[in-house]
Amino acid sequence: RSLNAVATLGARFGDELLLRATGPQAEEALAAVGRLAGEGFGEPGEARPTGPPGPPAGLPSAAAGLGAAAAPGEVTPPTTPPAPGTVLHGLPGSPGIAVAKAHRLRPAPVEVPDAPAGDADAEWSALQRALDAARHEIGRARAAAATRAGEYDAAIFDAHLLFLEDETLLAPSRAGVMEEGKSAGRSWADAVAAAAATWEALDDPYLRARAGDLRSVGDQVLRLLAGLPARPAPRGSGVVVAGDLSPADVVGLDSEAVRGIACAFGGPASHAAILARSLGIPAVVGAGRALLAVRDGTLLALDGEAGTITVDPPADVARAAERRRLTKAREEEAARERAHLPAVTQDGVSVHVAANVAGLADVGAAVAVGADGVGLLRTEFLFLEADHLPSEDEQEAAYRAAAETLAGRPLTLRTLDLGADKPLPFLPREDERNPFLGLRGLRLSLRHPDLLAAQLRAALRVAAAHDVRVMFPMVATVDELRRAREALDGAREALLAEGVAVPERVPVGIMVEVPAAALLAEAFVPHVDFFSLGTNDLAQYTLAAERGNAEVAALADALHPAVLRLVERTVSAAAEGGRGVAVCGEVAGDPVAIPLLLGLGVTELSMSPARIALAKQAVRATAIARARSLAGEALAAASAAEVRRLCGG
Ligand code: PEP
Ligand code: MG
Repeated sequence: RSLNAVATLGARFGDELLLRATGPQAEEALAAVGRLAGEGFGEPGEARPTGPPGPPAGLPSAAAGLGAAAAPGEVTPPTTPPAPGTVLHGLPGSPGIAVAKAHRLRPAPVEVPDAPAGDADAEWSALQRALDAARHEIGRARAAAATRAGEYDAAIFDAHLLFLEDETLLAPSRAGVMEEGKSAGRSWADAVAAAAATWEALDDPYLRARAGDLRSVGDQVLRLLAGLPARPAPRGSGVVVAGDLSPADVVGLDSEAVRGIACAFGGPASHAAILARSLGIPAVVGAGRALLAVRDGTLLALDGEAGTITVDPPADVARAAERRRLTKAREEEAARERAHLPAVTQDGVSVHVAANVAGLADVGAAVAVGADGVGLLRTEFLFLEADHLPSEDEQEAAYRAAAETLAGRPLTLRTLDLGADKPLPFLPREDERNPFLGLRGLRLSLRHPDLLAAQLRAALRVAAAHDVRVMFPMVATVDELRRAREALDGAREALLAEGVAVPERVPVGIMVEVPAAALLAEAFVPHVDFFSLGTNDLAQYTLAAERGNAEVAALADALHPAVLRLVERTVSAAAEGGRGVAVCGEVAGDPVAIPLLLGLGVTELSMSPARIALAKQAVRATAIARARSLAGEALAAASAAEVRRLCGG
């Protein structure tokens, strides 16, 4: 009945366990545990007979969503720091230069509220309330992790929830309060410390590291007991160094003090990188395990465009980096001043530079920084933030508010892009072994015709008075698109029959995120008005490297020539049919990649609002004729690194 007790047995893969059960359902209990063992305790993949020890049952070896403490490599980081002047080569996470001291992100210390104990019953009730509040907080973190990193990674929070009801912690806490006259905080802190010490005494380095999980849950309860928010205040300074950062970690950074982010793992499409770009913090990701041996306080020169980190740079290198940082800051200032002007290439081609948004507040922010429209409205935000299924009217109000804020600029509304990787608590679903290859995006919407109809009706009602475009995500086959269009036609006819104003026609597009759609783009041409390349997903499916998996995400580089060939294929099929092609994956906002994308024939870019000003400058610096020959060379390249070199990144 106790996760602490079971896990601190220190049982490892292949160990034999003797189970004994008593009581009325003893047989069933033993049979159930036997079944669990037979199924590998729910761990995905084959069991590992050799190699590093795996996590125990119930404690997935999650990377994303857990913060630095749980990133891969944290278990056995190298111990020798890189020599002064070493250049660590990673991937560009977020543009910009930082020259500052390394700061390893560690959990913030928590004071034990050591006030003298009050009435024992009152102390015990206070602890109960703090445990309830922690349960609520962890539940929210779980939902957020499920959204950003998937169900498997989110399951770590189930283990955290179990800590809150574990008798190994509760029994001594209760005894401390009721029998020893301790305060709730002291009693809980002592119980957590004793349990953590048991974890730390284990041989297995993975299990030893889990003491950190227990302590972080313990601290959360202590903060709540002390009347503090469960989440610590923004933290970090200089260049924050970590294995990987959860989105919550990135959002929790002190934006005043943090100059840059350096991660040993992850790729440019990881959510940490996406958030860093949104927040305008330079970042390098996938820099390798050696980064984790860098000592706190070591000077780092980080180049978020080149994807490099120079450890303890010589004085002249540090000075040069600082000069480039200042030049860039001036360029950015100049770019911001021109952000509201159209982006026109040197040879007179206008490029629509739009924003990707996931919230109504973002729409206003996008307009303020010069967006020519919204090229991707991630409508999931409405559903993920709500505690119920948003009705057609609620959706209509939100989409209308977005359109009104855009004041005539186009709004591209993507229908729900949910799935087991981004689950909705109120939408029933089966567990899937490979959520990214499962029922997500349009596939899911087609399984829930009422949900799709409500969303399309809401979009059509707004489109009657505004420039709204409808875009379907994760389309793999023409048949899916045909069914989606039928749903749109059905929604339109139903509204007409009800006497509701609808536009004559609404432009319809698909996101090209699945290689099949790119390879067969010409078959889609007759059925769409535009294409939008979702290069984040297109890269992960082309390279077979999940974007949320820190171990392989770096492979999913949208500048890989294999991905570029799919872009080229889509663009040429679309151009033949007179259709425009946008890019709305993260690469669209990368100034290094923009000439290449324009050279490939892309006509529109959509990106995080924070990148718009510099992206428009990159368009202005491009001459299409030259960009075309760059594109030709990139298509013939053999690696993403070669393409980046060609692009000058
Ligand atoms: C993409 O896949 O490139 C994309 C823009 O969609 P999302 O990041 O929301 O999956
Ligand atoms: Mg996508």
